[in-house]
Amino acid sequence: KGKRAFIAGVADDNGYGWAIAKSLAAAGAEILVGTWVPALNIFESSLRRGKFDESRTLPDGSLMEIKKIYPLDAVYDNLEDVPEDVKTNKRYAGSSNWTVQEVAESVKKDFGSIDILVHSLANGPEVTKPLLETSRKGYLAALSASSYSYISLLKHFLPIINPGGSSISLTYLASERIIPGYGGGMSSAKAALESDTRVLAFEAGRKHRIRVNTISAGPLRSRAAKAIGFIDTMIDYSLANAPLQKELSAEEVGNTAAFLASPLASAITGALIYVDNGLNAMGVGV
Ligand code: NAD
Repeated sequence: KGKRAFIAGVADDNGYGWAIAKSLAAAGAEILVGTWVPALNIFESSLRRGKFDESRTLPDGSLMEIKKIYPLDAVYDNLEDVPEDVKTNKRYAGSSNWTVQEVAESVKKDFGSIDILVHSLANGPEVTKPLLETSRKGYLAALSASSYSYISLLKHFLPIINPGGSSISLTYLASERIIPGYGGGMSSAKAALESDTRVLAFEAGRKHRIRVNTISAGPLRSRAAKAIGFIDTMIDYSLANAPLQKELSAEEVGNTAAFLASPLASAITGALIYVDNGLNAMGVGV
């Protein structure tokens, strides 16, 4: 009760970030979100026009309120990192203070502190290419947007996360099992994110009493997943092969995040929690 959450990676009502925001809001948390700069205008205007009102509805019938939306590009730590062509890009020039360090400073100025930090973002420009065809640039871009972005967010927010707080990211089974089609170094990026979850749990736990966990989520038809191109195949595969033969809802991942952020999970840190209808436990398709 009375907790404040910052969720990075919400730009519509289809993804895991949105569902996590809803579950946290339903549990009484105040919601702040970080939205990718190029997606900001459409997200804000859709919200304003009521396009998300139906999916904003919480179990008690009220509408989830997003206290503030911060423009964010988690690929840049501070202004010195931003190349000239991005600075002058029309979509970026219209907003300000969207590097990770500046967003953390703005949240501190506006609200003082937070209790829950969620990283629900990923990007791999070459995700549709097999690893053997991935360029160095594409690979490093995937790691920058999908893995280092989390280290950077946690580093910059850590001083304003209240002790006892919690941080959560989203990962995918392709880090540890072969999932053809999840290319461009995205499988590598998720492996890094999972390993970093353990190291960051140690460092943030010892230094600030903050817990750090990651949720390995099953397939969801989000905007990002549709861009990869094989999401329907993955959903069908899970339906056919997972121990629980039902479609995974984003809410199930949201509820797990709310649990992990709550005192009910006070001894859980450095953990990878599967929320995938059990698909990870299968050795063969059936
Ligand atoms: P999504 O499209 O809702 O979320 C991804 C978000 O990342 C988008 O809002 C996008 O604007 C944002 N983003 C991309 N680059 C960014 C940057 N540089 N700075 C800030 N924001 C940026 O899709 P999703 O599938 O819900 O993804 C959320 C997380 O869940 C990701 O980490 C993804 O890998 C993970 N995940 C998804 C699935 C799935 O099947 N959808 C499965 C397992 C894990």
